[in-house]
Amino acid sequence: MKRFLFILILTVFLFWGCGTGTSPTTPVPNQTLRIVSPPEDGIRNVVGEGVILQVTIECSLQDEINVVDTNGEILYQGTIRPPEDVIELKNFGTKGEKEIKIRSLESPVSTDLRIINDDKKLLDLAKKFALEYCCLNGKVVRLRQTTVYIEKSKPPVLSEDVVGKAVSFWEKMSPIKFILMNSDDEIPLGSCTISFLNQTDEGNPSAIARAVRLYATDYEVNGGFIRLYSPFETLNYIEKINVIMHEIGHIIFSEKHTEYGDVMDISVPIEEQNKWWPFQQKGLQLLYSVGPGEPIP
Ligand SMILES: [Zn+2]
Repeated sequence: MKRFLFILILTVFLFWGCGTGTSPTTPVPNQTLRIVSPPEDGIRNVVGEGVILQVTIECSLQDEINVVDTNGEILYQGTIRPPEDVIELKNFGTKGEKEIKIRSLESPVSTDLRIINDDKKLLDLAKKFALEYCCLNGKVVRLRQTTVYIEKSKPPVLSEDVVGKAVSFWEKMSPIKFILMNSDDEIPLGSCTISFLNQTDEGNPSAIARAVRLYATDYEVNGGFIRLYSPFETLNYIEKINVIMHEIGHIIFSEKHTEYGDVMDISVPIEEQNKWWPFQQKGLQLLYSVGPGEPIP
């Protein structure tokens, strides 16, 4: 009997020992979610009809997320990748000022973003923005047309892909449509055009690129050209796209620089010059809703 008990205890011990030995000891990494932008400043987080909100999310793991309105409606669903990813919201749900929830579908974490879904407020901000950046004496300064012909493969330092990415950004963020052309394609007479020039330097050795607007009158722009200097070649792929986006912005939007951490703001690193906020999108919609020289509506 004693011997039997001993064997039983030994067996239990061995099983228990084996059990703990094979139990999972590797920790499961935790997801973290943090909103990097937009800031909740009552300007960049104001949304409405016909605009996109770029939301930058910092995360530690690749994850499926969704964005949920206060009433439970799902506004967005998609995948995000670490360390930082940008999602584009087009549906903002119910009107008003509110917290929308960005929720991981693979771990129990979420974070909130305060947005203001208000068309009137968006329009007011857009009008003020367009007046400050795109007008002369309260009158619109803009491209003559909303279709722009652009050379896609010249100069050689510029890949077609970089131009294509830059152009799709502005097609999403403005009412401008671009037609990509080979340098030997014939551009219809009287069209708005943007062309590229490859230049070694400008006297200023740190100059990367420069856009020159071609004016027909004080208010009417025919298009322009973009000079690329030798430091442009040292940029990485993302930086090249952002620089081309910025220079195209000078031709279709304004010669001025902005201060909202967007594509036209030179106070942020080139890699982060990739935003165009809802009030700025609405501003360009207003700008191109009337002719050159007319007052902003
Ligand atoms: Zn600039």
